[in-house]
Amino acid sequence: MEKKKSTRDEFIPSIKRVMAERVAWRCCFPNCDKITIGPQKGDDTKSLNLGEAAHITAAAADGPRYDANLDRAQRRAITNGIWMCRPHARFIDTDYKEYSAATLLIWKKQAEEMAYQHLMMQSDYRPESSVTLIALGTELLFWGSWKSVIDQCWTFEVSSYLKGDAHNVRSYADNFFNLDENQKFIIVESQGDARQITAPLELEFSDSKKVTITIMVSEKTLATPPKSVGMDLKLGEDGDLVFINGDFATVSGVEAAIQAISILAGTLYGELRTDPGAGSYISDYYRQYHHNEALLARLIKIELIRLSLVPRVKSDGECISPPLSFIKEIVSIGMASTTLERSRLTLELSLILGDETRWKGTLRIFIKTTLESPTVSTHG
Ligand SMILES: [Zn+2]
Repeated sequence: MEKKKSTRDEFIPSIKRVMAERVAWRCCFPNCDKITIGPQKGDDTKSLNLGEAAHITAAAADGPRYDANLDRAQRRAITNGIWMCRPHARFIDTDYKEYSAATLLIWKKQAEEMAYQHLMMQSDYRPESSVTLIALGTELLFWGSWKSVIDQCWTFEVSSYLKGDAHNVRSYADNFFNLDENQKFIIVESQGDARQITAPLELEFSDSKKVTITIMVSEKTLATPPKSVGMDLKLGEDGDLVFINGDFATVSGVEAAIQAISILAGTLYGELRTDPGAGSYISDYYRQYHHNEALLARLIKIELIRLSLVPRVKSDGECISPPLSFIKEIVSIGMASTTLERSRLTLELSLILGDETRWKGTLRIFIKTTLESPTVSTHG
């Protein structure tokens, strides 16, 4: 039989073997740990491999998490693969294709660390690289690692806290039914995902005082096309209205969508008297972490994920959909510097929008650097 010539960038056998060996031939899916190798029954000279080298970014253009920026060599490199049992290799390519490349890399890292622990007989070793930033509501932020994923049930172990502490996690869990509805969400930064929490959390405290949190989450909200933003008045660099021939200039479509990000990101949470739940915490994060560019970028990402995926109930009971729902994915977020220019931070942003188009560019957002009562600002 003649083999069909493939346009898929498959891994070569020696790469697959090392990928499997680095995790001791165990599946990298959180909490699966299935051993994928053993003896071939009926043949004393052979082994049987039931694992698969799955692609983190797809081997072909129509596959999940495909990254057009990689070349063939990068796509076939060991760094682009994750070892999994067959069912889980299928899951991440079909049912679970919403799991991002960044999340798969964290799972791979965790599995490699686990294999390393077993190899070295070390018992308590987990580097920061296998953790992701997680938000529970707006008042709890921590570094955590994935423990398991079963359908809509996610389990994390808390490594360290950035906002709040173990006591706050416990009271969040104990008072779940009395919580403000607007606080019942989780954001996973590596995953670029936010979900509503549908049932009280389950907590487990280990001997080493580590907390494991199990959370039931809703289905993911689907992104909307940017044209749904409609038309808006155009704002200039300083947030002032722009006039053309004596008339207000307007924006629509993608331009209006991007302007909406800038306005909302630059609105301080609690600032609008008519709707105190609107706005973002980006100025707060800037004040605390402007000396740590990488962390600040991750925190801004958390805020943009929240504003694009978490619906909100206003004080009058009106339920409003996420204001930035046209953002499907935040591909990357960075900044050349944290220095403000005329009170604005310049972000380098790469997005995939709800209509699958890509947007890449710079975005200037207003930052309030002082806690004093606000001066008149013109950022919309
Ligand atoms: Zn598995």
